[in-house]
Amino acid sequence: MAYKEIGLTLTHEHRVLKESVRQFGKEVLRPASIAIDMLTPTEAIKKDSILLDVYKQMYALDYHVTLLPEALGGSGLDPLGIQICYEELGYASAGMALGIGAAGLHAVFASMANDHAINERWVVPYINCKDASMIGCWAITEPNHGSDNLAVGLGQFRDPKISQQVRATKKGDKWVLNGQKCAWVSVSPIATHAGLFCGIDTNKGMAGGGLFVVDLRTPGISKGLPLNKIGQRDMPQGEIFFDNAEIPEECLIFGPDKYEHALTEVLTHANLMMASVFTGVAQSALDLALKHCTERTQGGKLLCEHQLVQKTLFDMFRKVEVSRAMTRAAMMYNLGSGTPDLKYSIVSKVTATDTAFEVANEAVQLFGGYGLTKEYPIEKIFRDARSSRIEDGSNEVLSLVAAQRLIRDFS
Ligand SMILES: Cc1cc2nc3c(=O)[nH]c(=O)nc-3n(C[C@H](O)[C@H](O)[C@H](O)COP(=O)(O)OP(=O)(O)OC[C@H]3O[C@@H](n4cnc5c(N)ncnc54)[C@H](O)[C@@H]3O)c2cc1C
Repeated sequence: MAYKEIGLTLTHEHRVLKESVRQFGKEVLRPASIAIDMLTPTEAIKKDSILLDVYKQMYALDYHVTLLPEALGGSGLDPLGIQICYEELGYASAGMALGIGAAGLHAVFASMANDHAINERWVVPYINCKDASMIGCWAITEPNHGSDNLAVGLGQFRDPKISQQVRATKKGDKWVLNGQKCAWVSVSPIATHAGLFCGIDTNKGMAGGGLFVVDLRTPGISKGLPLNKIGQRDMPQGEIFFDNAEIPEECLIFGPDKYEHALTEVLTHANLMMASVFTGVAQSALDLALKHCTERTQGGKLLCEHQLVQKTLFDMFRKVEVSRAMTRAAMMYNLGSGTPDLKYSIVSKVTATDTAFEVANEAVQLFGGYGLTKEYPIEKIFRDARSSRIEDGSNEVLSLVAAQRLIRDFS
């Protein structure tokens, strides 16, 4: 039996959404993600791969537009609907959930400008794409600047000695891009577009950046080999190189004057997505552990009849419920109040990813030796959860960003 839904504010539509994503996850995402996990990164991104086939199915079902405004053709899910959708995608597969989220980020960033011409150029074509022929990504971190790029609000963010490796320089009516983004740019190996965060006014340090939407097929842009890694292998990642790549000036969405504000908004949203997905990952690890403990006998009785196991299961359950409650509260406040507060998104991300890791770790322990084998999905879920504490900002650095705001808001 799946967990009991105690959210009394869920509407009939929320429940139907939850059920339909759960079903799609069970029938399509989970089996495909396990198959892709076994492939090499290069095999996984071949044109005829199961990965692209699943993306096509997700686009056909409009999962790619869940984060976009209804007025432009997005799905129009309310904050709770978005939380439910991503939790259920994450329940099936963290990599697939984050991959389809990342695929729309260039369009989400563009929509933040609230500008008709920008929407027509970048958002509407993406929304109308139903065959996964347009895939975006979020290119921000760099080989020499991982945390540095995300430390918005910390003193170092405005230090002129620390600035982006990828630089945009104005030349007539074009921007010229040079530099390299790191190997962790999610879905970049299959992406056609990027929401690119890079340096413009380096005198302001990281804060002097700009946000562009870039067509990755532009001459002067190339990609590295897809990354080989321990978790989320069903979400390809890789470097992007810029070598005197010229892009039209209209590709600039936010310049240095609005960069810090835009990045804060992006992090506020990204942390909520991470929290939703990893609440689903944690729930899935708990459900697998419950199933195993109610089937496996040791010491003459079922594992779940041993008191120590019961206490472990309760602690796992408690953490998942806290993670969901915090994530939903932050999602509803930050996407619904008009006065979003990044630190609550960070609380939800850190709570959910720590929970996913701890719960998956306990689940592997309860499976015993079986938990270490590829016969059961729990070892993959454990690897997927491990990555989340570094992904989209390490939990330590995000905590520092939130702490800085906590202290500022108090004084
Ligand atoms: C699964 C996954 C998906 C990702 N997706 C994307 C993506 O889509 N796009 C993208 O651009 N990037 C992406 N990243 C990159 C990710 O954002 C970075 O890995 C992360 O920000 C940490 O940067 P780093 O790996 O360079 O580690 P570093 O910044 O080198 O940090 C190493 C360690 O030092 C600590 N540390 C760093 N700075 C400080 C400080 N000031 N104070 C205290 N401790 C500090 C960190 O907490 C960490 O423990 C992804 C990463 C992963 C793992």
